[in-house]
Order: sequence, then structure tokens, then C-alpha cells
Amino acid sequence: MVDLGTRVRRVAAAGVAVGAMITIPLAVGGRAAQGAAASGKLSHRFVKAADGVYHAISTIGSLASNSQVIINDEDVVLVDTPTTPRQAKLLLADIKTLTAKPIRTVVNTHFHFDHTHGNEVFAPTADIIGSEYARQTIVAGVLQNRTARSVIDPVAPRIEDMKKQLAAETDAAKKASLQDQIAVQEEYLAGLAEAHPTAPTKTLKDGERVTLKRANREIQIISVGRAHTGGDLVVYLPTERIVCTGDFLTSGTPYMTDSYPQQWADALEILRKLDFETVLPGHGDLFTGKANIDATQAYLRDVWKQAGDLKKKGVAVADAAKQIDMTPHSKEYPNIKAPGLAPLFVNRMYELMEGKDQLR
Ligand SMILES: [Zn+2]
Repeated sequence: MVDLGTRVRRVAAAGVAVGAMITIPLAVGGRAAQGAAASGKLSHRFVKAADGVYHAISTIGSLASNSQVIINDEDVVLVDTPTTPRQAKLLLADIKTLTAKPIRTVVNTHFHFDHTHGNEVFAPTADIIGSEYARQTIVAGVLQNRTARSVIDPVAPRIEDMKKQLAAETDAAKKASLQDQIAVQEEYLAGLAEAHPTAPTKTLKDGERVTLKRANREIQIISVGRAHTGGDLVVYLPTERIVCTGDFLTSGTPYMTDSYPQQWADALEILRKLDFETVLPGHGDLFTGKANIDATQAYLRDVWKQAGDLKKKGVAVADAAKQIDMTPHSKEYPNIKAPGLAPLFVNRMYELMEGKDQLR
């Protein structure tokens, strides 16, 4: 697979990117979607992981989160929903090319808007299962969350910048490219503006497990507690030896703005104990095996220790962000080329060390 860091860097180079794990769709709806629909192409690529189990990745230039589609004897379970309702409608239409069975259950792996903002499209006919924490944060206002703001707030200024570039550009091809990028970003903001954040209707407390029994398979929903957020879930198919991990385990470096790095590393032991072969992550292509558990734990424990050491020395967040050196992990994460860490991540660790725990 293309590792997440590479993908994010490429988007950053295009002037679109933001943080590590949450990225702005390059095309959601709009011309790209109309083009896809007109040509009969799907807006998602379905990678079959087992009979009736698909990893859904957007194909219309989007770097939004993935979903997983689990088709049972009579119904469909969907894991995570797209970043905007517009994109969720496209996903729903694409799923209809796989099966006519109804989506009766949606699982949110965590509260971040790029995994929950499509909930409203499925809510009329589906139970939405998430952690109690996810419900609380979405009800409190998921778009006020700083992770969401760090992604969304730069979009409008970016559009203005591109409009200025467009006015000064004389090359026809570059003009067309800029116009496309502007349209995509405006489409994205419009999609967000019309969203109605919709919280889970059935919730799990930390450590709780729920098993959905279907005639043809068993689906376990496991709360791993504090990790990438204050309440993460994984979806485990024991017979197929597949686990859907959201942002709890990906092949990219951990995105930490709302995380609990120490507890995250520990919670990965819950995952390790499961008998699985295939991981369907919230971003990026599927992968196999448990090596990414080791890599993620090592990264989290190291970054936490480095941040702690710097804090003890009285080093301010901005300086610590320059000094933290994760290059020893570059074998596992080739996107790490030089020392330095996102200040938002350092800020998060400092506030946890100070006994604060803020999402806003
Ligand atoms: Zn996330």
C-alpha cells in the first residue's frame, strides 16, 4: 500500500493537506462525482477482504476516511461513515451495486468527523453504535473539536489564496487545475455546512463488548477505551480473522491531537490478543499481520517519553515540537525524514501531563 505519510505529503504538496490522519477530500460530489456517475463509475473502490466483507476506499480523488461493508444473510453492517453527507450518499449508492440488503447497523470506530459525518444518511434505517464517549463528544459539537477546526479552518483562506493565484495565472492548463482545486474545496465546505452531526444511538462503555449474531457470521464490537480518542471501538470478525480498526491501528504514524498516547499503547494489547490476519484501517489500504501493533506501540511510548523529558526541562511546546526526534522509527514509518513533530501533538501530551484534558 501507499503509506499514509506519503499520501499526506503528496496532498500537502498540492496545498490541500492538513494533519496526518484527517485529510480533506480532493473531490466530494461536485464535478468529480457527477463525472463518476455519468460514466457509470463508482465513487468508491471495494476491496474484498472475505466473502461479503469489503474495504471501501474513495476513488474520486478523496483522501477521506475508509468504510467497511459487511454483508450478512439479511442485512448490512457498515463500519464508519464518510466525511460529509454528500459523500455518504455516494457510498450508499455504491453499496447498492454490491447488495440490495438494507444497512441496519452502522458502527463508528470513534467520534472524529471524518468517520461520523455521514451518519445522518444512514440514521433513518440503521442503529448507530459507538462508544459512550463518541456520543457525548458528537452531541457536544463535533465540529468545534480542535482536530476538526485544525482541518477545516484553513480551507477558506486556502481558497482565497488559490483565487489570487488564478487571477495572476496565464497558463491555460494551470488555470484549469486551479479552478478544479477551488471547486473541490468549495464543494467540501458546502458539504460540511449542510451536515447535521448525528450521534450514536447505542453506546458501549469502556471495555464493553457487543456481539452481533447473524446466520452467516459473528460480528464483535469491542470497546478498547482511551486510545486515538477518549473512546475507540474495533469491529472483529473472528471466523474471517478480520479486524476493522478505525484510526486505532493504521500503517501510518499515530494521529495524536485528541489521543491518550500511554493508554493507546496499552490498549493495543487488547487488539494483539485477537486472532486476526487482516486489518481494515480507517485510512489507507488493508494490511496483514501484527507488526504495525509493535511499531505503533514503540512510536507512542517513545514520543511520550521524549515529550515528558523535554517538559521536565521546561522546554516550551513550540521548541519541543522541533526537538522531538522520531527518526529512529523511520524504518517502520518511511515518511519520517527529519526530527520534529506537529505542535498540536506536543500540546496534547503536555496538557495530559499537566492533568488537563481538553478537546477544544
Ligand atoms: Zn481519527
